[in-house]
Amino acid sequence: MRYEEFYQRSIEQPEVFWAEQAQRIHWHTPPQRILDTSNLPFRRWFAGGTTNLCYNAVDRHLEARGGQLALVAISAETGVTRELTYRELHREVNTFAAVLGSLGVGRGDRVVIYLPNIAEAVFAMLACARIGAIHSVVFGGFAAHNLALRIDDAQPALLIATDAGMRGGKVIPYKPLVDAALEEATHKPPHVLIVDRGLDPQMTRVADRDLDYASLRASYEGAEIPVEWLESNEPSYLLYTSGTTGKPKGIQRDVGGYAVAMAMSIEAIFDIHPGDVMFSTSDVGWAVGHSYNVYAPLIGGATSLLYEGLPTHPDPGIWWRLCERYGVRTMFSSPTGIRVLKKQDASWLKKCDLSKLKWLFLAGEPLDEPTAHWITEGLGVPVIDNYWQTETGWPALTLMPGLDLKEVKFGSPGLPAPGYRMKVIDEVTGDELPPNQKGVLVFVPPLPPGCLSTVWRDDERYVTSYFGHFKELLYSSLDWAIRDENGYTTILGRTDDVINVAGHRLGTREIEESVATHPACAEAAVVGMQDELKGQVPVVFATLRQGVTEEAVDVAKGMQQRVVDQLGKVARPARIYVVNALPKTRSGKLLRRSLLALVQHTDPGDLSTLDDPGALDEVRRALERGPEQGA
Ligand code: ATP
Ligand code: MG
Repeated sequence: MRYEEFYQRSIEQPEVFWAEQAQRIHWHTPPQRILDTSNLPFRRWFAGGTTNLCYNAVDRHLEARGGQLALVAISAETGVTRELTYRELHREVNTFAAVLGSLGVGRGDRVVIYLPNIAEAVFAMLACARIGAIHSVVFGGFAAHNLALRIDDAQPALLIATDAGMRGGKVIPYKPLVDAALEEATHKPPHVLIVDRGLDPQMTRVADRDLDYASLRASYEGAEIPVEWLESNEPSYLLYTSGTTGKPKGIQRDVGGYAVAMAMSIEAIFDIHPGDVMFSTSDVGWAVGHSYNVYAPLIGGATSLLYEGLPTHPDPGIWWRLCERYGVRTMFSSPTGIRVLKKQDASWLKKCDLSKLKWLFLAGEPLDEPTAHWITEGLGVPVIDNYWQTETGWPALTLMPGLDLKEVKFGSPGLPAPGYRMKVIDEVTGDELPPNQKGVLVFVPPLPPGCLSTVWRDDERYVTSYFGHFKELLYSSLDWAIRDENGYTTILGRTDDVINVAGHRLGTREIEESVATHPACAEAAVVGMQDELKGQVPVVFATLRQGVTEEAVDVAKGMQQRVVDQLGKVARPARIYVVNALPKTRSGKLLRRSLLALVQHTDPGDLSTLDDPGALDEVRRALERGPEQGA
């Protein structure tokens, strides 16, 4: 079917459309009502239907594809690869579910999972889903404080952790962070279940509290645990947002709507069919990891690759060798990941047979055009930018090559996905804007299946954070966007990332794009610094590509000229600093507010989601040194 038809149907006849899509999954009892909107902005998809995510992801495939690979967990760090068929996955998940049951975990209980990208993370998630427990995976790179905040919010009956992770060949102990988090948290789960990888021989255990997964697994091996049939709108899991703009929110997902969104999107968007291979490089701790490393490919009967490690370790060819080895059809990564590779030699892309690779999807942050061009040329496959939020759980703006591939327009993640009624509106009046005018991207409720159903135990925060911005009841994405006549929408940054220069409102993102067109630029971050005369002026922090020999001063001059040529004098950066690293959140998003705080000596707010605090020192030093360009 063509995209236009598919999308139109989802908007004009949502109940008919989603009733059809609901056929893609197994229902224990069919839904009584496809869509209940009696209490907007809350909505209930497939009300009265009962189903189970684990059943749909695992059990349902046993007959037709029990011997097919379901999960390949590769660690480029330890060198260990684990290949599991659907039958083997079924066995591991049942065993894990039995262990959970033995610890008193049951339906509705929360389980915090603090694991890196290892197979056990997937077993644990699916085991929770099987018994109706609500998992909350916390990204393994988060420090103790972040973990403690999430523990106190989710109030888990159990914490699942490991001795250590690895990054770039270095062992990173997790257990001390777990101990510190439990020290700090007010809520103390009775047990910590430890998947001991044998990476940290110094690991200490708290008697009675800390349990060893391997020994429990041995006692319950071969157990079969019946699936718990859940009403479609019961919570399946919680996932906290990245915290780029403020305190993370506990995004709550349902069961039936999410399963249907996964089943539909894996085929219609990602073009993955039963038996195909999908490689998402995301961490299981992120929204992409939940949806496209675990639930969607498995619900779709595909093989999913899970990767622990960096894109450059042991060398920058590692991802492409995996694509060749497993015959990956669709790959999913982030612009950050590709930018890391872009700093390296392009020949790494050419060393492998990538004839099976059809699509590369990228999401998580704006995809700048130079990076998009570089990787498109390098791979020779369409690169599909797609826009979403932890809240949506799956792409909201994308192209859908699983239906038909529309023209890729660099700079835009494309067209609205099925079920998303989007508008670009004036931030003050709330009126819809004509094409090519910049405004706030909003979704008209009801939100499609798969999107958050509420904020965990805080319905009010759900309503006020997302629907409280305009006179009409609209979901605000809190992102700026511009839409052309054909519906192609471009994201221009977050609504709080706007600077006002002498009365002109400029998105920091537009200036970053412009700076990044300089061939020496690897990445740029722009913040608005207070200025007595103009209100605010743009300040640029840029990293350079490897092997650039041009003087930093000249590069900075060239960058400044580009901004003036492309955006006009008003956008002219007041200062340009060349740095070795930019401050990013653990999910690879630029933390502009931390830069601004350094520039203006103000309070940066919560910095606990920062990936590498060293990047801030780097910026501090640059500020002391003075700018490459400007006064
Ligand atoms: P918080 O909401 O806690 O501040 P966050 O918004 O960083 O954290 P996420 O849900 O991980 O948490 O990120 C979603 C945001 O990422 C989007 O709102 C958008 O700003 C950005 N984003 C994601 N994909 C794209 C994309 N393809 N193009 C541009 N921006 C994107
Ligand atoms: Mg957000």
